[in-house]
Amino acid sequence: MYFRPGTLDEAVHVLAAHGGQILSGGTDFFPALGERPLPDAVVDVSGISEIRGIAVEADHIRIGGLTTWRQLIAAPLPRCFHALKSAAREIGSIQIQNRATVAGNLCNASPAADSVPPLLTLDAEVELASVTGSRRFPLADFIVGNRKTLRRSNEILASVIVPRSLDDAASAFVKLGARRYLVISIAMVAVVVKTNREGSVAVARVAVGSCSATAQRLTALETALVGAPARSGLGAKVLQEHLAPLSPIDDVRATASYRSDAARTLIARALDACMGSG
Ligand SMILES: Cc1cc2nc3c(=O)[nH]c(=O)nc-3n(C[C@H](O)[C@H](O)[C@H](O)COP(=O)(O)OP(=O)(O)OC[C@H]3O[C@@H](n4cnc5c(N)ncnc54)[C@H](O)[C@@H]3O)c2cc1C
Repeated sequence: MYFRPGTLDEAVHVLAAHGGQILSGGTDFFPALGERPLPDAVVDVSGISEIRGIAVEADHIRIGGLTTWRQLIAAPLPRCFHALKSAAREIGSIQIQNRATVAGNLCNASPAADSVPPLLTLDAEVELASVTGSRRFPLADFIVGNRKTLRRSNEILASVIVPRSLDDAASAFVKLGARRYLVISIAMVAVVVKTNREGSVAVARVAVGSCSATAQRLTALETALVGAPARSGLGAKVLQEHLAPLSPIDDVRATASYRSDAARTLIARALDACMGSG
């Protein structure tokens, strides 16, 4: 059975009545299917316009789950979204970015999902809709493992909500792959740095992806950066011990030790990019 509801309400009722797998842009859905037939029920959410697009409110920014990466890149957003926009520009190709959605990237929950580190540094939350109402979680809690989330099978990821506490902070995203374009990350890093009037780091947020089952914030490093002079060379503050929360694996793309070295270098580069010297 193939369903293409036109509203969120219709979609959650279809899911409650028939179950089925959600189809959005299809850029993860179809490659994951391989040679297998379609699931018995498919709920194509791509026609639900009410959860596509970005709303800038007084204290938060709401990104509809069906917003495509191209729509996000084109939207006027505060400076702290620079890293997320950079990540979006590196998702596949322009053709992929035209189809692929924010919710698809998060619900697919690949350790290499490029949007996760920038959204973690923005303290993003996700809102899930079902017939029984909505549930909201910090993104950091929502993704619980490699391709595992807290989403129940009858829920649709409707929105991503970003608080506007760091609008003017600098941010940067750096991704390492085996080649320049159309590449799955070996490691990627997002940072946000807010500077105070005295020229020191007031707030620092650092997240690393592809180096553990789920992307991780490096809170010990974030704490160590606070108070440091906000200038070129900030990246030198990164120590190997700050990477302790990571658990990189050996795979076809890179060895664990290479990933670990790369993560440290990428963090330093991202911090220096925020200082205008990257
Ligand atoms: C050639 C190619 C290159 C790529 N390069 C990158 C890359 O560089 N970086 C990267 O991070 N990703 C990359 N991807 C993966 C993919 O494009 C992204 O993850 C994309 O954002 C997925 O969005 P989608 O709308 O296509 O999801 P879909 O394929 O439609 O869905 C993905 C999963 O999420 C679920 N889902 C989708 N929407 C919802 C929703 N609203 N609520 C609940 N569940 C939902 C689906 O059931 C499915 O399990 C690439 C893919 C391809 C084919």
